[in-house]
Amino acid sequence: MPTYDFICNDCNEHFDVFLSFAEYGKKKVSCTHCKSKNVRRRMTKVRVAKSDEGRMESMADDFSGFEGLEDDPKSMGRMMRKMGREMGEELPPEFNEVVDRLESGQSPDEIEKSIPDLGKTDSGDND
Ligand SMILES: [Zn+2]
Repeated sequence: MPTYDFICNDCNEHFDVFLSFAEYGKKKVSCTHCKSKNVRRRMTKVRVAKSDEGRMESMADDFSGFEGLEDDPKSMGRMMRKMGREMGEELPPEFNEVVDRLESGQSPDEIEKSIPDLGKTDSGDND
């Protein structure tokens, strides 16, 4: 059963609540300290090594679908957006720009030329 991390808005105490997925969102949670129902879910980045592994695997599956997408920028853009979400991390503004351009039908080559910074991911010793 998953543990949810809550903070009480009244007394500011942190507490954990065990809720099944069925209970979550239905069951009223109250503060274990002052019984207040004025509580909020605490947003924590839940990143467990094991689930990361699973995520990488599912991304690898996505990547295998990449072949042939060079000719289909819109599908490529959609796929990149999906992967960006799965990574769950803040993505650099360039990423969104690339995805936007792909989705508007620009080819990866065009995009690479118009965003010169994109090529600089290698340690920069080709100057
Ligand atoms: Zn409280």
